[in-house]
Amino acid sequence: MKTRVVKDDYQEIEIRPKEEFDHFLSLIKRDIKEIFKSRAGNYFYFCPACTNKESDFKFSKNGFVYRECLFCGTVFMTPRPNREMLHDFFANSSGLKYWNSKAFQGSESRKEHVLDPRMRWITESLDFADDSSRTYLDFYSKYLPFVTKISSLKNLNKKVSYKPIEGTAKEIKDLGFEIIDSLGEEKYSVVTAFEVFDRFYNPRKVLETIKKNMETGGLLFLSTTSASGLDFQFLLKKSKNIVPPLHMNIFSVEGMIKILEDFDFEVVELSTPGSLDIKILEEQIDEISAPKFLTDLIQNRDNYTKEAFQEFLQRARLSSHMRVLAKNK
Ligand SMILES: [Zn+2]
Repeated sequence: MKTRVVKDDYQEIEIRPKEEFDHFLSLIKRDIKEIFKSRAGNYFYFCPACTNKESDFKFSKNGFVYRECLFCGTVFMTPRPNREMLHDFFANSSGLKYWNSKAFQGSESRKEHVLDPRMRWITESLDFADDSSRTYLDFYSKYLPFVTKISSLKNLNKKVSYKPIEGTAKEIKDLGFEIIDSLGEEKYSVVTAFEVFDRFYNPRKVLETIKKNMETGGLLFLSTTSASGLDFQFLLKKSKNIVPPLHMNIFSVEGMIKILEDFDFEVVELSTPGSLDIKILEEQIDEISAPKFLTDLIQNRDNYTKEAFQEFLQRARLSSHMRVLAKNK
């Protein structure tokens, strides 16, 4: 299993403008009250990554409780909105509509720091068997600039978008994609699922479905927030990356490997190419009770040391942004 280190230097605010993000959070809080009302959802009695039933309370945020699996360290919301509640939320959330429609979608900085590295990763890793159908599926397309880049890849015979976010279907279709809302029998050669595994009611069921729709040797690319990441480990409910009810499954590195191996995927690469852990902790250091080691690093050491430490986090798979390439055996 490979781990890659990615050098990049930017600030969180470049990819997530503060004012817009704060507005998004306030809309989401209102949506929770208006859409869920008094419904609490279902108790999730096992870890969504490894199925272990033992867990400890970890934190609560905006009325949602998160527990930590005592076996793999995945952090998960329980009780959690059931599928019907989630459907209502994703269909009616004014916060999501705002966020998805913002100029944010196409900001140059986000393209440079999120989209371009992702495209490089995909093009460098694409590898097809001789008898591959070279068909491509984007699972829950969320990000139009990404789909646009993918549409220009020459070595794919067919491109499909599964349940793209509201308002994007026409543009995605115009880029040469087929739009579907049920998976059927087709076996895909490449599947991408970026920043969606944290949102599934039951990610094991979803992975099982994806697997059924992949050819042998097919490649699955995914990314998600990692519970093993340094900034998440210290910030927990104060982490701005965790916005309930959107983020229900915060996979640890160990949990991610376990779920993929349980469904007979070979994990080809698992990297945490995040660049922001130290910068985020630097900004929020006063909000947490940090150990002396961390305050020393952040307050008393120079940028060179901090960059070296961030690089170490990537090597150790301890940054909070995780990406995985898995091959269907
Ligand atoms: Zn677990």
